[in-house]
Amino acid sequence: MSSFNPQTVAVPAGHFIGGRLVAGPPALQVRRPSDGQVHADLPLADATLVDEAVQNAWQAWRNTDWARRAPRERARVLRRWADLIEQSVATLAPLESVCSTRPWRDATAWDVPFTAEGLRFFAEYADKLGGEVAATQHDHLGMVVAEPYGVVGAITPWNFPLVMMSWKVGAALAAGNAVVLKPSELTPYSAVRLAELAVQAGVPPGLFNVVQGDGRTTGEALTRHPRIAKMTFTGSTRTGAAIMASCALNGPKPVTLELGGKSPQLVFDDAPGIDRLAGVIAGAITGNAGQVCVAGSRLIVQRRLAEPLVERIAQRFAALRPGATWDPEATLPPIISAPQAARIVDIIERARAAGAQLRCGGGLFDGGPGGAYCQPTLLEGVDDSNPAVQEEIFGPVLTVQTFDDEEEGLALAAHPHYGLAAGVHTADIGRALRAMRALSAGTVWINRYGRSSDFVIPTGGYHQSGIGKDLGRQAVEANLRFKSVLIDLAATH
Ligand code: NAD
Repeated sequence: MSSFNPQTVAVPAGHFIGGRLVAGPPALQVRRPSDGQVHADLPLADATLVDEAVQNAWQAWRNTDWARRAPRERARVLRRWADLIEQSVATLAPLESVCSTRPWRDATAWDVPFTAEGLRFFAEYADKLGGEVAATQHDHLGMVVAEPYGVVGAITPWNFPLVMMSWKVGAALAAGNAVVLKPSELTPYSAVRLAELAVQAGVPPGLFNVVQGDGRTTGEALTRHPRIAKMTFTGSTRTGAAIMASCALNGPKPVTLELGGKSPQLVFDDAPGIDRLAGVIAGAITGNAGQVCVAGSRLIVQRRLAEPLVERIAQRFAALRPGATWDPEATLPPIISAPQAARIVDIIERARAAGAQLRCGGGLFDGGPGGAYCQPTLLEGVDDSNPAVQEEIFGPVLTVQTFDDEEEGLALAAHPHYGLAAGVHTADIGRALRAMRALSAGTVWINRYGRSSDFVIPTGGYHQSGIGKDLGRQAVEANLRFKSVLIDLAATH
């Protein structure tokens, strides 16, 4: 299978405002995680430029008919956009892969098509959430009318750049809003291409603007802007809390927060198909090198099954081959940056100092093309207070804890702060559903792990893993506000 040559990938290194690429002086260097090389520079939007982008979006929202046109026409434009994205896979996939951890093969087969299909899903909701008629007293008619907010601010992370953007922007546009997006400064380029294609598909220029920059300057200016009527964010819990505080202090506005996790995989000893199961559990912590919010990072397994399962997982770990995102033979992508790789190693070392025993892995691969590649790591003998059990690592590191009975297993699965997702593996449907009820998590997968293309199932966390949902009907509703109308039918009689 052929791939791409990173040296020849030209990137749109600018902002996208008012329907055109806006250059600026280089301010940030964007590196390729695969080989550590600087690929291109990036301008940084200061508060003035963020203001320009937001005002532009506001004017586009007010002066074009996007919010007022027939919803099915909005849907048609979004579907056309999805088609253009799919047709652009040959250019979009390298753009997505070159500075991210997304292997070109996966970007081609999954990220780009999944982005397009997500937009189609949101398009289908454009004419389905108009509000409701209220059960008022008989001589009145009460209505709850759904309306867009105006300009939605969106901030996204680096781990699945296209997909994360499409969830934010698709839901907001389908509901009739304008959007100003700040992608991660580590993976900024596919956002601009996405916005160019939106204009090509018929989204009015200015309705979807992209500002480039870091969190402290560009991100904060966006969250503080008084014209931003709603914020939607995906990223770490720490940043989510800062964004919520900033919104609260600068003119309160609703926030959707999709944050970090430390998700358990609860395996009972009757779980079906040990080989398949080992594949599911290994895949859930090594996919994207563990840099997945819902990574299944804590294996909690009933004692009888522990050794044979862990042995099979270790074998799967050993079979992975690290390599650049453009290497079609590689099965383990790089860690996003050198500081993040150092952080993973530090947590492993602290975990070992606190009593964890290393079954395999434990550090970075030697040599290689220059990026940082983390060995898939299994840590046994950990208790609840171990740093590897407590902290989101965002790398291919799996802790193993064993239990004897259901109550003990459920107690281990609980986390003091996070509640993003959980997996339950058992052949006993009663036990699976008891566990589902007991687990305090926004998503519970039973006898599988990970999202599917069933976009109708929302995603989002409990506790410090977030507020609100991406995907599903709920994501579109979160981009609508509701006006109450009460009509006195008797008054004109
Ligand atoms: P991050 O919080 O460091 O950054 C996310 C985004 O926020 C970036 O665009 C960044 O520039 C911006 N930002 C940083 N500080 C800011 C500030 N003060 N004000 C405004 N914006 C600011 O997260 P990351 O390292 O890019 O992504 C990894 C994290 O994202 C992990 O914790 C992961 O679990 C989480 N995540 C969650 C989901 C989910 O659906 N729950 C999905 C993907 C990633």
